[in-house]
Amino acid sequence: MGLTSSLRFRRRNNNTFLRIFIILVLSCIPGRTNLCSNHSVSNSKDLPPSNPSDIRSSLVSLDLEGYISFDDVHNAAKDFGNRYQLPPLAILHPRSVSDISSMMKHIVHLGSTSNLTVAARGHGHSLQGQALAHQGVVIKMESLRNPDLWIYKGEQPYVDVSGGELWINILRETLKYGLSPKSWTDYLHLTVGGTLSNAGISGQAFKYGPQINNVYQLEIVTGKGEVVTCSEKRNSELFYSVLGGLGQFGIITRARISLEPALHMVKWIRVLYSDFSVFSRDQEYLISKEKTFDYVEGFVIINRTDLLNNWRSSFRPNDSTEASKFKSDGKTLYCLEVVKYFNTEEANSMHKETDKLLSELNYIPSTLFSSEVPYIEFLDRVHIAERKLRAKGLWEVPHPWLNLLIPKSSISKFATEVFHNIITSNNNGPILIYPVNQSKWNKHTSMIIPNEDIFYLVAFLPSAVPKSSGKNDLEYLLKQNQRVMNFCTTANLHVKQYLPHYETQQEWKSHFGKRWETFSQRKHTYDPLTILAPGQRIFQKTTTRTTTRTQLSPIQLSKSKAVLKGTTRRASVQLKPRTV
Ligand code: FAD
Repeated sequence: MGLTSSLRFRRRNNNTFLRIFIILVLSCIPGRTNLCSNHSVSNSKDLPPSNPSDIRSSLVSLDLEGYISFDDVHNAAKDFGNRYQLPPLAILHPRSVSDISSMMKHIVHLGSTSNLTVAARGHGHSLQGQALAHQGVVIKMESLRNPDLWIYKGEQPYVDVSGGELWINILRETLKYGLSPKSWTDYLHLTVGGTLSNAGISGQAFKYGPQINNVYQLEIVTGKGEVVTCSEKRNSELFYSVLGGLGQFGIITRARISLEPALHMVKWIRVLYSDFSVFSRDQEYLISKEKTFDYVEGFVIINRTDLLNNWRSSFRPNDSTEASKFKSDGKTLYCLEVVKYFNTEEANSMHKETDKLLSELNYIPSTLFSSEVPYIEFLDRVHIAERKLRAKGLWEVPHPWLNLLIPKSSISKFATEVFHNIITSNNNGPILIYPVNQSKWNKHTSMIIPNEDIFYLVAFLPSAVPKSSGKNDLEYLLKQNQRVMNFCTTANLHVKQYLPHYETQQEWKSHFGKRWETFSQRKHTYDPLTILAPGQRIFQKTTTRTTTRTQLSPIQLSKSKAVLKGTTRRASVQLKPRTV
């Protein structure tokens, strides 16, 4: 890898030489799949098994460094959204890239005689079943986590990590060397493969673009089982297909992520606005400046009186004497959230810079809340909220989230209708809103964004309280989302969904617009049998047998047993293939 000046870190006490020796010995055993070979694990002269129990036995007979399990499938049957319950047939716990390649090649060998599909599962924090594979194989990517992270400290520093690595671990490791990734998500207990399959957006995206813009190289196992290294210069079509590609083209087994020097502390500031146009003008001003904050986000506060005791996440303002007297009186307010990174010895110049920036803004004067916390505490802030919610039993509840990307030209119309007429309270979860610069998004990735220089991320992130009725009820929240979507359509706001979810291929075509042809042609190139990421519901595997098809209708967990029975009964129903 040419890492002459790299540092190698060991997180477990592995004996590298022993491991290399074992790999060399094992790769000489006949029938074992070599990382880069095109040979299938199964003898291609054998007829593929078509009987379900034979298929199961064929999976068991695979020669793997990790293992395959059938008893713990309930662990991969649902996700953070908590609305779908679709158990796989088996879970692969890979120990090597070769395990993943072998599994893919085996399923390719079974061909259309089997309905087996494959979902890479990162941390399972999808919302609508995107990481599920009903009666297929789920690959638990966290098992692949390599004990070693490679950090290159040269002029353009980077870290090489496993696709199953959690971002929080990358942060902890890179910080030991004074470095850090540049672009984040608000929550770090997500995997590299999971966020790179979407985009990875947070308050740094206005400056650095999303996480998919901050990757130098990937290692991919394609839908054909081939192991391919790709980058902007090498196999670039696959590289860009996979970034934001919703898991459709291959499984990310390794990623090279760009780093920057990390500072130790952050100045964390929140200020309030009552006028949306003033709020959004200030946000747009901040993201247009060269010398500005390091993070710009914002959120909407609707009908809240107990504002100060209910800041989202771990924000604890320490200079709120005047601000603490502020009464929201249930008005709709907009909170600008900004952050400046600094080292303690440079605190004075940081204060001057932030004071200057704040003096250029038009927030309600008495509403400045601020705090200073370590860099890692700020980045890992949602985990603190997670711990609190878990303690109250409010983490593993249904999450009918809706994430939208809205062009600047539509945002005012959207805000007027949605924040005043459709959403009448946000007691059950935050509503984030912040702009990003389109120029920072690489147009070659698979990610679909609005076609304007500035667009906003608006994220409705409610939790449905089980057994509740009224505004915390799942059905109510889903209807509210639908009303928002209906308004966007009828008002022709040119909105795109982020973490998209659709019921029909027609809707997917409209999501991709002119780029649909390229997307589906690339699917045909890299995953011709339509094996990968069935939970996205973009393409459907065609089989020659009449078997159980993926039943992907949403269910409430309380009804899950009934629905599972239902799917068994519907076992012989043949759905219309959606393969292109
Ligand atoms: P999973 O849910 O396991 O997988 C997601 C999809 O990617 C599936 O289709 C899966 O098959 C595929 N996949 C997983 N791993 C791989 C791989 N290695 N190779 C190929 N495909 C793979 N997103 C943001 O952009 N910004 C945020 O601020 C943000 N905050 C969040 C906060 C919370 C509390 C939660 C629950 C989610 C948040 N998200 C955010 C959304 C999150 O980025 C996505 O849901 C992401 O996919 C979750 O990562 P995961 O590792 O759990 O992926």
